[in-house]
Amino acid sequence: MAAAIAARQRGMSVVVADGTEPPIDKACGEGLMPETIAALGELGVEIQPDAGYRIRGIRFLQQETQVGAGFPQALGVGIRRTILHQWLIARAEECGVRLMWRTPVSAITKIGVQLPAEFVTSTWIVGADGSGSRVRRWSGLDATARQNQRYATRRHYRVFPWTDHVEIHWGRRAQAYVTPIGREEVCIVVMAMRAVDASVDSMLRDCPQLEQRLSGAGLVSRERGAVTQMHSLRAVHSGNVALVGDASGGVDAITGEGLRLAFRQAIALADAMGRDDLRSYARAHRRLARKPTLMGELLLTLARKEGLRTRSIRILAKRPELFARLLAVHTGGAALGDLLSAGAHLGWRFLTT
Ligand SMILES: Cc1cc2nc3c(=O)[nH]c(=O)nc-3n(C[C@H](O)[C@H](O)[C@H](O)COP(=O)(O)OP(=O)(O)OC[C@H]3O[C@@H](n4cnc5c(N)ncnc54)[C@H](O)[C@@H]3O)c2cc1C
Repeated sequence: MAAAIAARQRGMSVVVADGTEPPIDKACGEGLMPETIAALGELGVEIQPDAGYRIRGIRFLQQETQVGAGFPQALGVGIRRTILHQWLIARAEECGVRLMWRTPVSAITKIGVQLPAEFVTSTWIVGADGSGSRVRRWSGLDATARQNQRYATRRHYRVFPWTDHVEIHWGRRAQAYVTPIGREEVCIVVMAMRAVDASVDSMLRDCPQLEQRLSGAGLVSRERGAVTQMHSLRAVHSGNVALVGDASGGVDAITGEGLRLAFRQAIALADAMGRDDLRSYARAHRRLARKPTLMGELLLTLARKEGLRTRSIRILAKRPELFARLLAVHTGGAALGDLLSAGAHLGWRFLTT
């Protein structure tokens, strides 16, 4: 939807063919960081004032230790994914995108796209078909530079949010990403290296604090599973085909950065198509991926190494200003150099604690 809107905003005529139909649901932490909201704004999608739940920052919790910080620049929003998708559809329709639901793409050629009942000729073909992208395979872009896979499970609980932060609860083998998404609704995603550890029930047993928060709260959606990947490709375009969103690689769900990346890539791709220069898209794509990939690697290292994680969270709890600086870098409120400087401070505390 984002890629279609951005292309229409630059005057191209756009057809979207999706194999399923709305409401399209998917396991997701449903947290929009301030920068994600800014990118949505550039696409002409505004967060409606009474929708979702305003998020002020991020908090890490492990047993009795916790540390949190506010977003430096603006608020984030927790919102049901199906609602966000409705807004994107409404905006795409307003822009004049031709939307075709229940229309799987079965092949692409140099001159267009094969749909069940017609062949659509096209100057550009954008593969926005998710992490298992077939457009990626058909266009020979499957070669990966790196890939690391984890498992996730999502649930929605009917409960009054007890926090206005996204909470990341660190268990021994899994993490729970908790996002308030409504006046009486909270989204929980549990992520782990092994599928068996990505169970909400076993996470709650490991994390009594969270279990207590949810005790007596009813489930208000179907539980969904997903695979989340740190995945980067050697190339994101070939000929007149370009990949965007999860089809073009991605970062682990724990970063909460997937949607921002997809929206920013969509804008960069539309610019590149407008200039008839997909190489500039490849450059922008690499630049956009740099920081979330680094953050993703850091968070996954904490997930894997219990001793390092325990010490890091304890140090950050004693020096919350360091956590605030790391969060500012993560959410786009500070430069990558600040990450190195905050990292150096953290390293120094390690040596001196
Ligand atoms: C567990 C989990 C939690 C996450 N939490 C967050 C979060 O809190 N915040 C955040 O910003 N990001 C989060 N992410 C990342 C985010 O969900 C993804 O980055 C984002 O959804 C990618 O969108 P996409 O449009 O590229 O792919 P998708 O959402 O997968 O969409 C792909 C579309 O392509 C269609 N399609 C596929 N094949 C075909 C075909 N052959 N023909 C026609 N249509 C086809 C599908 O029907 C689908 O509609 C999370 C991811 C996971 C797995």
